Amino acid sequence: MIKKSLKPFRDIIALALGHLTVFKHVFKKPVTLEYPEKKLPLNDKFRGEHALVVDNEGNLLCTACGTCQRVCPSFGTIEIEKEKTEDGKFYPKNYTIDLSKCIFCGNCVQYCPFGAITMTKEYELADEKKSALKLDINTLKKNYSDSIIGERDTSKR
Ligand code: SF4
Ligand code: SF4
Repeated sequence: MIKKSLKPFRDIIALALGHLTVFKHVFKKPVTLEYPEKKLPLNDKFRGEHALVVDNEGNLLCTACGTCQRVCPSFGTIEIEKEKTEDGKFYPKNYTIDLSKCIFCGNCVQYCPFGAITMTKEYELADEKKSALKLDINTLKKNYSDSIIGERDTSKR
């Protein structure tokens, strides 16, 4: 009988606590962001789309040694077509990374003995065509000039 008579008070208290919680959040900064118009700054170690490093003359540092392929935990992500110059140096005739298989672990970057591959901060990689996720050597080279060098230049400004 007593319990029943207390029920309306319990309901009012619960309602008041609910309103108090809502009211407290009115004065707090929102935890969400209006993406894609606004974006959070990325950590320096963020691992996005790959890029093949080029020197000042525009030559790839990659020697097609295959280390990145061997340390990649996702079989078949990296494909390298190796060629030899007249003076006996190896270079990649073609180099592809299939982002649909990549788990963005960063092993390829970490273990490359020549510092020839890096990762950009590009993460908006969705595309209607799966084939667009296969990055060829030219795209990977362009990623370096667009994202890595481009970013360096904007940070200098
Ligand atoms: S990116 Fe580095 S590890 Fe991979 S083949 Fe080229 S030189 Fe070797
Ligand atoms: S980031 Fe990892 S999974 Fe992706 S290509 Fe490099 S080694 Fe392979």
